[in-house]
Amino acid sequence: MALLFYSEYDSASEWQSAFAQAEPELEFRAWPQCGDPAEVEAVLAWNAPAGFYRQFPRLRLIVNLGAGVDAIVRDPTLPAGVPVTRISDPAMGRMMAQYVLAAVLRHFRDFGAFERARERRAWQWIAPREARECTVGVMGLGQLGSMAACELARQGFRVLGWSRTPKTLPGVEGLAGDEALPAFLAQCEICVMLLPLTPATEGLMDARRLAMLPRGAKLVSAGRGRTVDERALVAALRSGHVAEATLDVFHEEPLPAGHPLWDLPQVLITPHLASIAIPRTAAAQVVDNLARVRRGERPANVVDPTRGY
Ligand code: NDP
Repeated sequence: MALLFYSEYDSASEWQSAFAQAEPELEFRAWPQCGDPAEVEAVLAWNAPAGFYRQFPRLRLIVNLGAGVDAIVRDPTLPAGVPVTRISDPAMGRMMAQYVLAAVLRHFRDFGAFERARERRAWQWIAPREARECTVGVMGLGQLGSMAACELARQGFRVLGWSRTPKTLPGVEGLAGDEALPAFLAQCEICVMLLPLTPATEGLMDARRLAMLPRGAKLVSAGRGRTVDERALVAALRSGHVAEATLDVFHEEPLPAGHPLWDLPQVLITPHLASIAIPRTAAAQVVDNLARVRRGERPANVVDPTRGY
């Protein structure tokens, strides 16, 4: 039996050597060299086309290569009874926390303003402040968001977190549910979005929600592009209501060359790389989950398709 790898972005050879280390007995195949589909026991995939999983009659485990499962849970042709799992890895959480910390510190320490001042050869003094004077809100306190929120708290920021259900994290004031959102947003000098894309979060940060942020707020978006209404964000940036943004995720990726976000100097654009699944650590987790399903046990990190994340 074999594990099939499918991704247009990730290096199959890197994953192959990680699996060879984690479980030398496991046969690794990389799409399109899948061999006999009846021999495929597990699929590790990123953005496989709809209907992909139906062709493997003895499939026991689907592993989403990453944390964002919106594309896979939308696939109506997923074979019933085959668990869908996600990669859940402290190394991935650390990488996301680094991205968030870098973006928040860049906004907080006015680096964007200094980069723009440099263009004019301007010696622009902006008084530094203590981190505790700055409130950072983190939307989404999941495996990645909670680590990012705790790192921000460790840096001395006042940190608010917002999630669907209440969460208790050290140094983080937790708010939960739609009714708490206006009070949460009203306090965010810097708002970090780390929400999954679900029917409830799609377009959540629209013109109305952006207007709830204090004037001059900064936005960091690293969850999913479609949780933000990009037209509304462009308008808020043009008006100065949102002063700056760091964006890693977009409605359309790569972000089209003609997109108005490219024209705004107060926006830092990164090409969806805040965090990635790391073969060395993730392969061991997939092997462990495969062993669990072979023993008839429930694998770890199962995605709930009804919840959408
Ligand atoms: P999790 O699935 O572990 O957690 C999701 C969090 O969002 C939870 O705290 C959840 O609340 C909250 N949430 C979900 N729906 C709502 C809602 N309707 N209202 C309020 N809160 C909600 O996700 P991760 O932390 O692991 O990852 C977050 C997202 O980051 C991923 O879904 C993915 O799309 C994205 N991502 C981006 C990457 C990048 O490189 N830019 C890399 C990897 C992931 P509760 O705790 O109550 O369940």
